[in-house]
Amino acid sequence: MLCENKLEKIRQNNLRVTDLLESIIDIFGKQSHPLTILELKTLLKKKNFSPNKTTLYRQVEKLSSIGILQESVFSDSQRRYCIVEEGDHHHHFYCKQCGHAEELPHSLCEKIHKVETQLKSRNFKIIKHSLEIEGLCAKCNS
Ligand SMILES: [Zn+2]
Ligand SMILES: [Zn+2]
Ligand SMILES: [Zn+2]
Repeated sequence: MLCENKLEKIRQNNLRVTDLLESIIDIFGKQSHPLTILELKTLLKKKNFSPNKTTLYRQVEKLSSIGILQESVFSDSQRRYCIVEEGDHHHHFYCKQCGHAEELPHSLCEKIHKVETQLKSRNFKIIKHSLEIEGLCAKCNS
């Protein structure tokens, strides 16, 4: 269900829909955790794709620039990506020990938007907001 409108958007942005690109989207669509390029590469290998890192990086950057993927950077400085709906984004909890990351509830964004509205009413211009919660997951904390 997610694929068709995403592929349509890719075409609209003059990006060629290749088997590789379809597999990338398919992989992200099935992931609940954000992936690093390296993790993506490993998952692609299972589907018999072995693109070099630069190619893969370029594809992912493009998908991120047209709003299909969201980029997140946690304190280990690695870029991670996950799929988002158009015009949407979310925030994560990130475990510093095992790297587990999960989506935080959407109500968090709504609260931030309220603050943004207040700032806008004071004629401030909002460009973006970012917030990631880091710590230890239940498993690492026990
Ligand atoms: Zn995510
Ligand atoms: Zn953990
Ligand atoms: Zn937000």
